[in-house]
Amino acid sequence: MEQNDKNNEEIKNKNQPHRNMRRNSQANQQGKMMPIVSVIIPLLNEEESLPELALQLENVLKKAAHNRYEVIMIDDGSTDESFNVIKQINQRNRRFRGIRFRRNYGKSAALSVGFSMAQGMVVITMDADLQDDPNEIPKLMAKLREGYDLVTGWKKKRHDPISKTIPSKFFNFVTSMTSGLKLHDFNCGLKAFKRNVVKSLQVYGEMHRYLPALTHWQGFKVTEIPVTHHPRRYGKSKFGISRFIKGFLDLLTILFTTRFVKRPLHFFGTFGALFVLIGFGVDLWLTIEWFMKKTALSNRPLALLGVALIIVGVQLISMGLLGEMIAKNSYEKANYQIAERI
Ligand code: UDP
Ligand code: MG
Repeated sequence: MEQNDKNNEEIKNKNQPHRNMRRNSQANQQGKMMPIVSVIIPLLNEEESLPELALQLENVLKKAAHNRYEVIMIDDGSTDESFNVIKQINQRNRRFRGIRFRRNYGKSAALSVGFSMAQGMVVITMDADLQDDPNEIPKLMAKLREGYDLVTGWKKKRHDPISKTIPSKFFNFVTSMTSGLKLHDFNCGLKAFKRNVVKSLQVYGEMHRYLPALTHWQGFKVTEIPVTHHPRRYGKSKFGISRFIKGFLDLLTILFTTRFVKRPLHFFGTFGALFVLIGFGVDLWLTIEWFMKKTALSNRPLALLGVALIIVGVQLISMGLLGEMIAKNSYEKANYQIAERI
């Protein structure tokens, strides 16, 4: 956890060392108070929605955060006018800030950079397409005050096409089973985190889908509350059918990196040893039979299975050992190219 924290700080400082120092010292000099709430909004080509989203947020946060808030909009490589719209919003209200990625890195990358920048005690994430309702923010915050570390929205009445809702039910079921965290909805864009949670999360790939599971595994308290969900008004969904394949692969990665990262051999080795034992047993039995009854081994296809099991088993054990070596030496660090900041 400490390492993650340091890593995030590093990304932050590497990208804008002077600016960060300047902002902090300015804040101290003017006695300006840190924001209570940080809202992080990843967006890709959402120019039409942004002005209305900003107005709605201003309205809600005036009360919910006593005007002590920041909204960080992360433009994940938009090709439309999104960033110019963000600049206009920033001119009107300096609490709205923007980051523009030079290319599209994905929602997880955008969230990760947002998390490293957030200064508020409470961090809210939401989509930019007006499907998530800012009016739910006070409810999420109230739930955090009950002692939870992450409160995620549950799109109980969902306004999405059936091609999305049915696979999503399956996804939620599988994630619920594998993660041991019982939620109806793992992938709602609208979530509220306590600050220390976002500072300890490392999000990349398509892992934004597993934030509640990751948080749960780190020992934080996670819950969900039903939230209003609107149909998409402008533009179209940014995730195609590939979401399911990538999402599944990322689930595997998460299972590995969180559960077995320290001991890959425990995972591969268990299966490997099991295979070798069964293979050895089968072949031993066949050998004894051959010896006693003189049955020709060429008549026993089972012999092949025994040999295959031994070979695969040995390979799995070697893979586990390789994994151990990699786990000892590697420490990967994300470095996202940021083109602009306001
Ligand atoms: N998004 C993003 N980068 C991407 C894809 C999506 O920042 O590569 C943003 C998108 O602009 C929106 C949010 O992630 O604010 C959720 O995307 P979308 O509404 O397309 O997903 P859906 O609601 O269809 O699941
Ligand atoms: Mg959407």
